[in-house]
Amino acid sequence: MGSGASGLTLALLLGLNGRKVLLLEKASHIGGSLCRFYKEGVPFDTGFHFTGGFSSGGILTDMLHVLGFTDSVKPIFFSAPGAVVFVFEQNGAVYDMPSGMENFRVATHKYFPNESAAIEEYFNRVKKVCQSTVTLDLRKIALSAEPIDEDFVSLEDTLNASTANPILKGLLSVVCLCYGTNPKEVSFANHARVSAGLYNSVARIENGGQAFIQAFRDFSVKSNITILCNTTISECANVRDDRVGEFILDNGDKVFADDCTFTIHPHEIIKILPRQHMTKAFIERVSSLETSNGFFSVFGIVENADPATFGPSITSLLPTCDINALLDPLYTGSGALVIVRSIEKNKDKTYCVINAFEPEFYSRLKQWADSKVGNRPPAYLEYKERKVNEIRERICKAFPQYRSNLKILGAASALTFRDYLFSPEGNAYGIKQKIGQFNLFGKQSLLNIYVAGQSAILPGLVGAMLSSFIVARNIIGKEEFSSFIEKELCN
Ligand SMILES: Cc1cc2nc3c(=O)[nH]c(=O)nc-3n(C[C@H](O)[C@H](O)[C@H](O)COP(=O)(O)OP(=O)(O)OC[C@H]3O[C@@H](n4cnc5c(N)ncnc54)[C@H](O)[C@@H]3O)c2cc1C
Repeated sequence: MGSGASGLTLALLLGLNGRKVLLLEKASHIGGSLCRFYKEGVPFDTGFHFTGGFSSGGILTDMLHVLGFTDSVKPIFFSAPGAVVFVFEQNGAVYDMPSGMENFRVATHKYFPNESAAIEEYFNRVKKVCQSTVTLDLRKIALSAEPIDEDFVSLEDTLNASTANPILKGLLSVVCLCYGTNPKEVSFANHARVSAGLYNSVARIENGGQAFIQAFRDFSVKSNITILCNTTISECANVRDDRVGEFILDNGDKVFADDCTFTIHPHEIIKILPRQHMTKAFIERVSSLETSNGFFSVFGIVENADPATFGPSITSLLPTCDINALLDPLYTGSGALVIVRSIEKNKDKTYCVINAFEPEFYSRLKQWADSKVGNRPPAYLEYKERKVNEIRERICKAFPQYRSNLKILGAASALTFRDYLFSPEGNAYGIKQKIGQFNLFGKQSLLNIYVAGQSAILPGLVGAMLSSFIVARNIIGKEEFSSFIEKELCN
């Protein structure tokens, strides 16, 4: 259930292994956050702009290879000078960070010559986490990795123990914005797992997440996968011997299935699982998982720009180096703004596209929570217009050469994302991945129910896909799955 990156991955893995799959999607189309949308013919990304994991031997490269997507899901690397830049606005410091963990480390030394010990300590620990995390290796992929020391210490405490330099701490924790948990709350291990992929390489996908969706469509026709959109499960019925016997759909149909995997937000999952088969403690645990921030996004183009010099690039404007503040709903200052420049094509036309997004918190939008897309109150529309103007101004300050040619074609708040993506509170990353927390993941106490998706282990495209590989291994069986992976990786 759910056809985002996680649901599509799992459906295909099961289909490729001879299982008969029914993919249920509440929206009118598959793809979830991977979907693109068009404004005046210009393609824009909804919830997928860039990713790590594409370097040679990278986990994403391997996963796409196994799915057979290598020829259709092609990376465009952010590797030229100026491609990944962090601007600390409080002192105007600009950090142009190169691709490759080793290069990133060397550049950090260059920018902070008096912080050698802290920088070495940080990168050594990131490497250690990656080497000791078996789930990052597809061949040894496992449902539960042994926890390591770094799972029990926060990113903030780790950095505080080795440096007092606030800007260095800000630079080394800025990736928190790419997974939505602040340095105080995230374990060093989870931070390292996401960051390492991005240090090694940052890439977009040619044609964005739509390329992934198209590849899935092409391959799913060869597998035994039926897709049902505008459909969800309203009830799990006929539970016997800890197994759900019937899945009742909202159109009244009954589905009999050996197994069912949910790839949606945990809070939504417990609304569907049968109450009498969940303990109070389980419901409390899942309900207490905190939903991540969303984004306010602005979508625009720069007319008459030269595509040869237009990105791809990611420029992060950081009004403060305190990343905890930038992810705090109570923070009232200017937000972090990530500006992605990319070249997009549609029907022989080439566009210089700007996608800018700022963390946004549902608590600030609550007054309009009951409204729906296309029918929002005037106060909300004023808020949105104000935000667009603010963000436009910040883009023009960062790129003065675009001031007269920047055309904003659309904007979306967390409420917009909530309503288009069926994501609670318009979250970008599912739940916050907090230290010491037990996520909803893998096989549940109802034996034919599984949970995957971005909230299961790690957020983002890589985390969502990885959770599905692990669940697929559990459903298919260790041996059959291992030989399938071995065969596909050798292909
Ligand atoms: C604005 C934004 C920017 C982002 N940028 C990036 C980025 O640059 N890089 C990156 O790696 N990640 C990014 N992310 C996060 C990334 O999109 C997700 O981590 C990942 O795509 C989640 O995949 P998923 O399959 O777990 O969930 P989703 O993509 O959310 O898919 C869940 C699917 O389930 C469906 N669904 C929901 N409820 C039901 C139901 N009851 N019944 C049936 N179907 C249901 C939804 O319609 C949806 O299709 C971003 C997210 C947002 C919102």
